[in-house]
Amino acid sequence: MVLSNRINTYGQHLLHRYGERVHKIALDAGMTCPNRDGSKGVGGCTFCNNESFSPNGRTPPTLQEQLASGRRAILKRTRATKYIAYFQAYTNTYAKIGQLRALYQEALADPDIIGLSVGTRPDCVPTEVLDLLEEFRANGLEIVLELGLQSAFDETLRRINRGHGLAEYIATATAARQRGIPVCTHLIVGLPGENEAHYHASLDTVLDIGVDGLKLHPLHVVKHTLLAQEWRQGQYIPLERDDYIRIAADLIERTPEHIVYHRVTGTSPKDILLAPEWSSQKWNILNGIERELRQRNSRQGTACASAQFSPDARRSPIYRAIQSDNRPINRAPTAGLGSDGQSWFNLEELRHVA
Ligand code: SF4
Repeated sequence: MVLSNRINTYGQHLLHRYGERVHKIALDAGMTCPNRDGSKGVGGCTFCNNESFSPNGRTPPTLQEQLASGRRAILKRTRATKYIAYFQAYTNTYAKIGQLRALYQEALADPDIIGLSVGTRPDCVPTEVLDLLEEFRANGLEIVLELGLQSAFDETLRRINRGHGLAEYIATATAARQRGIPVCTHLIVGLPGENEAHYHASLDTVLDIGVDGLKLHPLHVVKHTLLAQEWRQGQYIPLERDDYIRIAADLIERTPEHIVYHRVTGTSPKDILLAPEWSSQKWNILNGIERELRQRNSRQGTACASAQFSPDARRSPIYRAIQSDNRPINRAPTAGLGSDGQSWFNLEELRHVA
């Protein structure tokens, strides 16, 4: 399986930019979240048990210890010696700017750390944070602002107690990109009350606003969350594995080639994952998505009208493959939001362009 032959992956993107492998080290900086401490809301998002994306639990080791153990683990798996410090757990812009500067600089003090990926909420990125990230970027560091949007539908965001709407995302993503700060947007497939029309419309909305990277993953039901209660009571039914693979492939095909996929699935620790059970098998899902695209003789951007190629994208295997087989790029299928706020979407058209 070579996923990067069909998807513009972050790993390939960094390899082409730096001429060597660069890996992310996930960090828990001991932050909290305004959707948990009462400033935006309490209880957090209905699916959120933060252990599900923090490898360190909730009493994190020091940043230096985490960086050292992350490096050891990556070195065992690959020969990578350059890293991105990925501030992952909770909301990593939710602190005074002086604290944030000190935190980020602590990670950047190691010369092998060539940049930062900062995960946060769209409503928690004040101007001073953008100034700081812009400053780092101007100094030649690799910077990505990762914004958790999850869905472009305000109704869904309310239902999952997200505590922000699409408007905050538009404002932050636009402001960041105007300063040259790349934005990677997180979308979840399988949120309560959503269907395929929603996933496609959310992707379209994010693409229309402008984005540099994407992360997709299926919704996980994890312990100690409101979603877990809904699932136990039969009010929430998780996606099936094959449906996720097919939908992810559909979304990838409709994403322009120059946009970097940082992730096309995600896992939760086994000790807290309740459902869907298949989501714990990351490589099985990645293989499934690659196989699906291969069987369709397809790849990222195949079903996209608005292909634009950055200098980085032009060096990517996907770009070269498209050029060499002269495959026509089809018109984008029709999907979007109606004036009544409902999504409209032509599934048949999607199938045919694929
Ligand atoms: S914004 Fe992130 S950290 Fe905060 S409650 Fe939601 S998922 Fe959890």
